[in-house]
Amino acid sequence: MNHLDNLGEIISVRLPVDKVGFTGRMCPNLECQKYFKIVFGTGLEGEDLPCYCPYCGNAAVPDEFTTDEKIDYAVSVAEQKLIDAVYKDLKALEFDYPPKGPFGLGISMKVERMDPHLIQHYREKKLETDVTCKTCSLQYSIYGVFAFCPDCREHNSLQIFHKNMEVVNNLIDLTENLEEDLSTRLIENALEDCVSSFDGYGRELCRIYAHCASMSANVKRINFQNLDEAQVSVRNTFRFDLVRSFENDAWFEVRRLFQMRHVIAHKMGVVDREYINRSGDTSFVEGQKLQLRAKHVRRLSDLLARAANKIYSEFKLIDCSRSEEPNSVLQSGD
Ligand SMILES: [Zn+2]
Ligand SMILES: [Zn+2]
Repeated sequence: MNHLDNLGEIISVRLPVDKVGFTGRMCPNLECQKYFKIVFGTGLEGEDLPCYCPYCGNAAVPDEFTTDEKIDYAVSVAEQKLIDAVYKDLKALEFDYPPKGPFGLGISMKVERMDPHLIQHYREKKLETDVTCKTCSLQYSIYGVFAFCPDCREHNSLQIFHKNMEVVNNLIDLTENLEEDLSTRLIENALEDCVSSFDGYGRELCRIYAHCASMSANVKRINFQNLDEAQVSVRNTFRFDLVRSFENDAWFEVRRLFQMRHVIAHKMGVVDREYINRSGDTSFVEGQKLQLRAKHVRRLSDLLARAANKIYSEFKLIDCSRSEEPNSVLQSGD
């Protein structure tokens, strides 16, 4: 049997995956080159589909996302297979003719194997967030929280925001049988989580659509904890009105709940003139302590979840041809 011929013209190497089934990938964009992982066999099916970097959104053919460690591993395994085949073929040619007669010469050939060739093993890195894309079902893992899906390029910000609102509601459920002090503190924390999740969500959308902004320098300064300021900034920068993402009077209700959070976070929960003037809430008098209830936070998470869907659509509809810097590549982690 000729082992070398049996190898054929192409040597296939199976790449090991980590315990969960993830395979590491690396963005080929030289300004990014960040690592992420995917589970092959999940996500989109088809020929010649591009792969997208979850961090910068760069598209390339899937092979370009192969990590250097994997290439080194595959080369070393292929070399090993080659050496094995040559060794076995030569081994089959061994012979040994013993000497004949009192002064005869014997002749033999013995094939010894040299030191084993070293396989360049690699280990996949541990990352921070595992995501299953809502759109194409690809399972992927990333540093940080927000990302583009490497298969369909759908951004996960809306998915992450809804997940956060689910956690807020679970937290509120836990408060039902607790004593009042502890329950109040957890409800306040849940309110804070609503506001900070919305802020993180809004900032991330601004970041990924920065190339569509009319004034890209403003993008990093947009703060979604203050809805009035966010409304003005989004209108000036992305040319749409945040208010229209809120149904009926939801904008005013959400504004008031955000101002409640401001009083709790910065004024020990004691109502001041600024709160009354800004929120128009006359159910409290100056100097009185705000009474935040679980129902307020549930209502806020519900209103924000609905608004978040519409805000996502508004960003998608932006006319990017009117931007300052068309086609600029996202700088991940900014
Ligand atoms: Zn990238
Ligand atoms: Zn996807």
